[in-house]
Amino acid sequence: TPLDHIRNFSIVAHIDHGKSTLADRLIQTTGGLEAREMKEQVLDSMDIERERGITIKAQTVRLNYKAQDGETYVLNLIDTPGHVDFAYEVSRSMAAVEGSLLVVDASQGVEAQTLANVYHALDANHEIVPVLNKVDLPAADIPRVKAQIEDVIGIDASDAVEISAKTGLNIEGVLEAIVTRLPAPKGNPDAPLKALLVDSWYDTYLGVVVLVRIIDGTMRKGQRIRMMASGAVYELDRVAVQTPKLIEVQALTPGELGVFTASIKEVADTNVGDTITDDRKPTAEALPGFRPAQPVVFCGLFPVDASDFDELRAAMGKLRLNDASFSFEMETSAALGFGFRCGFLGLLHLEIIQERLSREFDLDLIATAPSVVYEVALTDGETIALHNPADLPDVMKIEEIREPWIKATILTPDEYLGAILKLCQDRRGIQNNLSYVGSRAMVEYDLPLNEVVFDFYDRLKSISKGYASFDYKLDTHRVGDLVKLTVLVNAEPVDALAMLVHRTVAESRGRQMCEKLKELIPPHLFVIPIQAAIGGKIIARETVRAMRKDVTAKCYGGDATRKRKLLDKQKKGKAKMRQYGNVNIPQEAFIKALKMG
Ligand code: GDP
Ligand code: MG
Repeated sequence: TPLDHIRNFSIVAHIDHGKSTLADRLIQTTGGLEAREMKEQVLDSMDIERERGITIKAQTVRLNYKAQDGETYVLNLIDTPGHVDFAYEVSRSMAAVEGSLLVVDASQGVEAQTLANVYHALDANHEIVPVLNKVDLPAADIPRVKAQIEDVIGIDASDAVEISAKTGLNIEGVLEAIVTRLPAPKGNPDAPLKALLVDSWYDTYLGVVVLVRIIDGTMRKGQRIRMMASGAVYELDRVAVQTPKLIEVQALTPGELGVFTASIKEVADTNVGDTITDDRKPTAEALPGFRPAQPVVFCGLFPVDASDFDELRAAMGKLRLNDASFSFEMETSAALGFGFRCGFLGLLHLEIIQERLSREFDLDLIATAPSVVYEVALTDGETIALHNPADLPDVMKIEEIREPWIKATILTPDEYLGAILKLCQDRRGIQNNLSYVGSRAMVEYDLPLNEVVFDFYDRLKSISKGYASFDYKLDTHRVGDLVKLTVLVNAEPVDALAMLVHRTVAESRGRQMCEKLKELIPPHLFVIPIQAAIGGKIIARETVRAMRKDVTAKCYGGDATRKRKLLDKQKKGKAKMRQYGNVNIPQEAFIKALKMG
């Protein structure tokens, strides 16, 4: 395809503003799929993405559009994830295209993730076309939202495209804006091959599939290519475009987005951001690469049933095939036996992986307290990265502990501002700025990530009845007065519940954990003390009272079926419990105990 007949773009939006619906409409209008193949949100292919209405992996689709000027254009859309955990995927897919549609819900206006995502687009030097969606809603206020876009983001919104992705109103207007307002890509077809490795994933039928953006030169079936960072050389088995169905093509030329397969064994052999070139006629200079995504939240995952360990390892290996940002390594816990220490991009990422493991692989898991990565400076001058609070060295050997901080932006209707400021204050936040975006307050805070990982987002949503939006980026590590909080059940420390907390909140957090566990641990035949300790000092205590009777005592001798049913039920209950010494702790207690009220 000639360069001036190609347009590459992404859609950026706050969650729920209609990005997926618009993508569906664009595909439908340009005939990328037959009506019968069209199911809602075609780009959100994972079950969890569809159910939760979020996009996790970047996806791409090629559309053919016959424009009003009579020419047919190739439009390549890269769909990007909208959630903060996946900001890294957003910025790297942006590098592969020249423009963005900025979708804003005309009844809601600019939100925190609108800003965060549009900044990614501006960083990538995108031309931006504002699109006001949901104009069918009575609450849509077009002039107000246009003014917001101009005031807050600083881009001209006077000729924003007004649409309803739901009803299909003015989708043509979006397509025309893409063709007339976004720049065509640049590139030299005669230069040696130079392509950007945008993404890769594992497909059950095709094996590893690699998404590329061609910068210069041509990519063809049979060609020997070289990955410049890894040095690996492959012969291309298949070169194709996604419509979103895979359609094989002769060649990919400059400006195009497409995929290839090449008998690559593992996704781990493909580095996102790498430059791909021709092995025999290589390009002189690689493209600027990306820094790999660093996991920021860690937790232990253990099988409830120890015999599931191998199955868990295999399942994690499979998930990692498609998600290089998920990391795991074996770990042993005194309390939980063999399991894995896993790294995630954020809490949502953690939840999604956990959910996939239980849903797709039918595994019962215990997750330990999520932890951020601390820098621990030791008295001997060494600094270690601490992924697991249970591994904290002896306090005598510690010079200082540094914790990661974030820069957070929150947008909220004014009436919830007071409660939100209090929440941030309670979480040791330092306020940097407070301004207004139309009638909504925008606050900027520095916050310790540690105080955000458990339940900050949930709290924020409940305080603001769902109206506040939140976005963050990682900042530096700062020294913190942190102590290790230990929980003892029946006098045994439970390593899975160990956590680092700030000294000022340690006592109340310890008390809360004991209270929660008291409710979550069922009565046994004996009294169970639950204690929280800092260092050797007990700071809180609760007691689970002893059970009065055996559950089957009520059944008279004759009713064997009923008795067996009860025992079966008890056994099933047990399957979800974990034995500590002689105490059974229900699986869900681990996460629930850690959520702060
Ligand atoms: P995303 O999170 O940005 O991908 O948003 P979705 O495309 O999943 O849309 C979120 C919700 O808004 C869904 O319930 C859509 O049906 C709804 N929605 C999307 N576009 C419109 C629109 O133009 N009008 C109305 N009324 N609802 C819409
Ligand atoms: Mg979506």
